[in-house]
Amino acid sequence: MTSEHRHTISTIAAGTFLLLCAVLWARPVCADIIYLKAGGALRGEIIEQDEKTITLRVPYGRMIIKRSHVQRIEKEDVLNVLLAQSDGLLKDGKTDAAVAKLEETVRRFPSSVSARERLLRLYHRRAESLHTQGRLLEADRFYRRILELAPDDEEAAEHTRKVDAIRKDAPAAEKEARLLLSFGQYRQALETFNRLAEVVPGSAVRNRRFIARAHAGYGARLLEFKRFAEACSHYNAAVKLDPTLLARRKDEVVIARFSPIVSEINEKGRTLSDARWETLAAELKAIIALDDKNPHFHYALAVCYHELERYAEAAREYAVVTGEKPDLSALPGSLGALQQRAKKKTESDPIILSFRKPSFTDVRPGPTQVLETEHFIIHHHNDEMAVLVARAAEYFLRRNYKVFLDAMPENCWSKKCDVFIYRTHEEYLQQSHQPSWSPAMASTTGIAGQLERHHIMTYQTVEDLTASHLTHEITHIIHGAVVHYHGSNPIWLREGIAVRQEPWFKRMRMARIIREAQNDGKLLTLEQVIEQKGYPPGELVDLFYAQSYALVTALQRSGGKEQFTQFCRQACTAKALAAVKEVYGLDRDELEKRWKKHEADLMSLLDKV
Ligand SMILES: [Zn+2]
Repeated sequence: MTSEHRHTISTIAAGTFLLLCAVLWARPVCADIIYLKAGGALRGEIIEQDEKTITLRVPYGRMIIKRSHVQRIEKEDVLNVLLAQSDGLLKDGKTDAAVAKLEETVRRFPSSVSARERLLRLYHRRAESLHTQGRLLEADRFYRRILELAPDDEEAAEHTRKVDAIRKDAPAAEKEARLLLSFGQYRQALETFNRLAEVVPGSAVRNRRFIARAHAGYGARLLEFKRFAEACSHYNAAVKLDPTLLARRKDEVVIARFSPIVSEINEKGRTLSDARWETLAAELKAIIALDDKNPHFHYALAVCYHELERYAEAAREYAVVTGEKPDLSALPGSLGALQQRAKKKTESDPIILSFRKPSFTDVRPGPTQVLETEHFIIHHHNDEMAVLVARAAEYFLRRNYKVFLDAMPENCWSKKCDVFIYRTHEEYLQQSHQPSWSPAMASTTGIAGQLERHHIMTYQTVEDLTASHLTHEITHIIHGAVVHYHGSNPIWLREGIAVRQEPWFKRMRMARIIREAQNDGKLLTLEQVIEQKGYPPGELVDLFYAQSYALVTALQRSGGKEQFTQFCRQACTAKALAAVKEVYGLDRDELEKRWKKHEADLMSLLDKV
């Protein structure tokens, strides 16, 4: 017996030490190390011992060792083994496994400072890397674990506070995003959906179709400003989320995809590589698969083939444009003339894209209906529109008050605001006595600082009823209340603030108007803007609104909300320049400089193609 044991021990000790190590790495629970006089060591769990022998549980069974062979017994340092293992995992790039290993270590050795420190370091590393990738929610999980270990960690505390706030607001944000979408404020809707998706993982899936609609709506706006590449990527995102949009908005989608190709060919032309022409041809074929009627797509594809010296295919595509029967007998000699005929055809048949802009055309028969909300009384002839206007009005009221004050005051108005929505532009003009260019109006009358009457008038088929006009006119009503119904609000200030509350696309139109006037040398001077009494003549209205908007923005950017509200109040009684000097400390030239800078910033947005 003894000699057998001895044999076994010495074999293990001499020959399989490395093997034991491997087993040890796999099972770190071993607790005792028996160092042998013959050299080497055994790791296992001592389950029995007396004066003569030690019984050791090892991974493959149990082993009896004579005491006389043992040099010393040590409790294995499980902590160090675990730490070494996590270091090894980290070195191999297995960060998640290293985190798990360190978490186990900390659980088993809660008092080990070095384990805690390593784990915290690792948590921070993971959290920061996830954060920079924009994976806020995953980062948040690590920040929360940091706080469990180190409740004083400021970085982690700040991060989790932010996430908690967004999460708490999530139901409201979701509602807001959907509302913005229904009002046609696509970009704002998208921003809100994106913010939500960062912290509430399910929200992107739940709102899939809404997000798709927002992408498509925003894409259409971008097309309007010839920002084709961006438009294209938004349409692609839309179709990916909701493939049914492809059929419903096919014209927009194909134009969004086609336009960047046209720009590229026109700008780079002959410098494009063959590989690039091949790619463009493939994209054009995909577009033609969606719409094979449009001659422009065939012409562009023919140009690609022509450049690639695939003459027969080029001839076929040019011939689709001209409606001829392709003559393939004299290629490539005949191609030049055929191309010219096709080009002429496309030039005489430009692409005109008409966007499907929702407008309320149904008119309910009978007398005017009334829909009353907390702050508005809506007089209308279309129930569906009235409900949308009601929701939008209450939303814009709360939102636009924040231009002046931190929040809408309780009992902000002593009377509800009437909103008259007429059936036609003619009816609106007749009732409102506005000039013919006017799409909507707001009026407030007050006596001695008390509200007498305020109302909004517009008509139900006006373009961008809620997205643009409603938010604009409600801003006028709020502005009146904020300056305590003083009668002499400067008109540039009034309109500038209101335009600023309209969506992005409206401001881009303003940018375009400013650029055109600048190119024609027709920009208004600062004095022409701030001294304007009443509305300017029709042909100057757009420019006056645009430059007023730029001026208001320049002012708002020169100070905080309180200063701006103070300025609005002073501007009712003092000259504008005096009020600017008093509230912002800016003289005329400095104000003009800032105004011009903002106009330039605005115009530069138009160049983003
Ligand atoms: Zn206005």
